[in-house]
Amino acid sequence: MNDIASLPLKGIFYNGTWQSSPDARSVAVISPATGEKIAEILHAGPQSVDAAVAAAKTAFRGWSRTPLLERGQYLKRIAQALRDHADELALIEAEDGGNPLRLVRQDVFSAAAQVDYFAGLVTEIKGHSIPRDPGSLNYTIREPWGVVARIIPFNHPILFCASKSAAPLAAGNTVVVKPPEQAPLSALRFAEIIADILPPGVLNIVAGGSEAGARLTSHPDIARIALTGSVQTGRAVLRAAAERIRPVQLELGGKNALIAFDDADPAAVASAMVGGMNFTWAGQSCGSTSRAFIHETIYEDVLEHLKRKVADVRPGLPTKPETVMGSLIDRRQYDRVMNYIEIAHREGARLIAGGKHPDDPLLKDGCFIEPTIFADVDLSMTIAREEIFGPILSVFRWNDEQQLVSDVNSVEYGLTCSIWTNDLHRAHRMISAVEAGFVWVNETTRHFIGAPFGGYKQSGLGREESIDELLDYTQIKHVHIKFHPAPQSEMPAA
Ligand code: NAD
Repeated sequence: MNDIASLPLKGIFYNGTWQSSPDARSVAVISPATGEKIAEILHAGPQSVDAAVAAAKTAFRGWSRTPLLERGQYLKRIAQALRDHADELALIEAEDGGNPLRLVRQDVFSAAAQVDYFAGLVTEIKGHSIPRDPGSLNYTIREPWGVVARIIPFNHPILFCASKSAAPLAAGNTVVVKPPEQAPLSALRFAEIIADILPPGVLNIVAGGSEAGARLTSHPDIARIALTGSVQTGRAVLRAAAERIRPVQLELGGKNALIAFDDADPAAVASAMVGGMNFTWAGQSCGSTSRAFIHETIYEDVLEHLKRKVADVRPGLPTKPETVMGSLIDRRQYDRVMNYIEIAHREGARLIAGGKHPDDPLLKDGCFIEPTIFADVDLSMTIAREEIFGPILSVFRWNDEQQLVSDVNSVEYGLTCSIWTNDLHRAHRMISAVEAGFVWVNETTRHFIGAPFGGYKQSGLGREESIDELLDYTQIKHVHIKFHPAPQSEMPAA
């Protein structure tokens, strides 16, 4: 695509400009929807990663001392720049990541809203005063950590790159972001956009794969690490952090449940199953409710509605404005999801929709899979337990609430849960019974700015999108001041 090809997206951005180094390596970027090469960028080798961290370390002194409200103003300018470049960023990301143009455009606006949110929160970076003895003052102050590493997954590159830099920056840290190797281009364009806004070295973006990520997370000058990604990578990051006792923020995978009681409206439940599964993102969303537990009295009715509703979600070329569902991120992920479909057939799940590449000849070279639904799934099946991160919804029938709770909580993930009932008592009972960090009742999918997002169990550590995230990017210093210095013997015993 000419637009992308004409952009000087070089790959390694630190100290306010594009950089090169002898250990950088040239890599082709492929569109998952067409299989065509759309750009060529540099991937950072160890020296480039080290140089980006050094730039961030140098910039830390000035940035951490920048007055709070001024830092907020910088962030507000970034938010506005995102909105100003929304069409361009969305087009790049649709082409590069395979998600529909209209959704990724919305991601750019969501990113801007989050950056604005953290810009407005800077005056909340405050400590406490602690009552103590007369003649003394005890209080805490919050200080930034230093250089923060932010590692980003492939499913929302521009949203995560921009929004997840905002809290650390607001708190006075400098940041090195590593965008996903499968879809790096929107983050790289973002680097160019912010070059005119932030002082050099404050936000640095280096493209690369797992090696670059590992180099970054094990770097001695990285003071805090945040990963959004898989559980497997989460473990690797924790191991790296353990070597130097660094704090870690993890937003990891999910195998989330949607639970429908017998009093729920079957049509509404079916709509929620389609929406909650994020078929529009080809199911590549951590919060997707990929396990739907439907009470037996409404089970068949829900399935009938479901078949009709899912028929409206057809994959299409991501760059077309009318497309509602895009492609998977790459051939590897496509093959992985197709393999799960085969396994589900073999293990006896009942296919009620999709299960194959779409017939549309326009999509023949891309990584497209139809929205796929298996009914009559039980916990012995592979698709009931493993995070697929693709457009496969598993539907379970239930009739015993105790068994339901045990089944819902039987996986090691605990990110989201969606509960459907009109009975307040049931809803509250389930809210406290389910092991998940984010629960909707009669709603799915939505995030609410300021509401803490994060997982129980192996779905992560810490909370984001809220003041909790901002405060995590500060460390607490306690101060004791003694007034009227007096001989120790005159002071009351502690
Ligand atoms: P991934 O774990 O394969 O990669 C994520 C990032 O980590 C990439 O940038 C990758 O290069 C980097 N990485 C890989 N190995 C590394 C290492 N050893 N050290 C440092 N960095 C390393 O994940 P993915 O396939 O890009 O994304 C899908 C996963 O992300 C799913 O499990 C999904 O649930 C999860 N996710 C979670 C959330 C959330 O908010 N909880 C949001 C989006 C995605």
